[in-house]
Amino acid sequence: MSMQLYNYLSRKVEEFKPINSPKVGLYTCGPTVYNFVHIGNWRTFIFEDVLKRALLFDGYKVKHVMNITDIDDKIINKAKEETIPINELTKEYTDAFFADLGRLNILPADEYPQATEHIGQMLKLISSLVDKGLAYVKDGSVYFSITKFKDYGKLSGTNIKGVKAGARVDVDEYDKDNPQDFVLWKASSEDAKVRHEAFDSPWGVGRPGWHIECSAMSKQYLGATFDIHTGGVDLLFPHHENEIAQSEGATGKKFVNVWMEGEHLLINGEKMAKRLGNIFTLADIAKRGFDPLALRYLFLTAHYRSKLNFTWESLEAAQNALLNLKREVSTWDEPKIGCAEFEGKFKDAVADDLDMPKALSIFWEMVKSDYPTSAKRQSALVMDEVFGLGLSLVPKALKINVHENVRVKDLVDANAPMNQTDIVNIAGELAIKRDELRRAGKFGEADKIRQELIGMGAVVKDTGSGTSVEFRSDTDKND
Ligand code: AMP
Ligand code: ZN
Repeated sequence: MSMQLYNYLSRKVEEFKPINSPKVGLYTCGPTVYNFVHIGNWRTFIFEDVLKRALLFDGYKVKHVMNITDIDDKIINKAKEETIPINELTKEYTDAFFADLGRLNILPADEYPQATEHIGQMLKLISSLVDKGLAYVKDGSVYFSITKFKDYGKLSGTNIKGVKAGARVDVDEYDKDNPQDFVLWKASSEDAKVRHEAFDSPWGVGRPGWHIECSAMSKQYLGATFDIHTGGVDLLFPHHENEIAQSEGATGKKFVNVWMEGEHLLINGEKMAKRLGNIFTLADIAKRGFDPLALRYLFLTAHYRSKLNFTWESLEAAQNALLNLKREVSTWDEPKIGCAEFEGKFKDAVADDLDMPKALSIFWEMVKSDYPTSAKRQSALVMDEVFGLGLSLVPKALKINVHENVRVKDLVDANAPMNQTDIVNIAGELAIKRDELRRAGKFGEADKIRQELIGMGAVVKDTGSGTSVEFRSDTDKND
């Protein structure tokens, strides 16, 4: 089956046809870096990563651009509160964002353009909108005139009949029921310019509105027309609607072919959002002992177009499922020829508008099947190209040659000699844990685990795919 994706523009699932196959241009709206990204945001970023992985899996060559919003009201206010320059604040949270991306196994984008480094491109776009009569200047600010753009509302279904001409907003986020002319350039002061919070423009000192940065930076890196644009569904209006108006208004060309929007992560039935104070960060879940990849697993259990209510119980179930999976994989043989039957079904589920819950259930069916473990390991590696659960890092099959007196000291309450399966399971888990700690830079704790494994009578080696653990009889331990 060829890739089918739900397009918000047509509100239908459509066959995906890139403009210049096998190349695909993908733009994903990135974070506003004034605080730690919360797990609701991560749900969207993981959906986008799964989309990109699915396209790569299907043989496409993806150019992925994600913007970093490093100037806006929230950033300026927070920097003021903390009495630090805005670039100090944004650097701290940009670095934190990148560290978390790695923990969640999210593939890096090709470009992460920052708004403050693309002011020139934004000014050019705004000038062409003014020249075409789609934007007007008022007291040193520039506004987009929504009634002048005939297709306004085509993405979100917002109706602008009856909108009062000249009614305008300066804030970046506002309600769908209240469409108004929106700000492209906000007048500011000379003082703000000294603090690097404002810039020169043909209309005086000011700074860009939020929406214009995505139009300017996507054009810079992906061209006037590209294949896929994504974000969370809250961005449909006004952000994505306004991006279309700006881009198509300025270039006269179709901006984006496929618009994909990820549904929200909820908590207690409400959207998780900073302004509601109901958020958790990746650090919060790690503090409670959860692996970031358990969160990734949890998000894979729901379709990206369904709401997902977050609970600690569901995260715990996801963590257990992931641990069971890794435990199982750690006992499997080296990969050989995979299970074509399951790989075929998996591919179809992925191509069916990224049906990850179905793909996961096919995956588990494969895990529980009678195929040889070498085939299962091969197919697991193939499927994990889309899931991104780090299964390639699970140690290869452990060679078991345990001499009779091996005891697992301090690890479990076991005074009796353990059977081989228990030892393999525990050693496998410890090896996985050690790799996680090493990836997180916790080398001291990782080394303690190495010592524990050695204490169990294991030979521990570092390989390209992570910790390898072998149990051998005393006589052949030196080879
Ligand atoms: P922001 O930094 O607020 O612009 O958000 C970054 C991304 O996270 C955007 O694509 C938002 O649509 C998305 N987002 C925000 N809140 C949630 C949520 N509760 N669930 C899923 N995605 C969200
Ligand atoms: Zn955007």
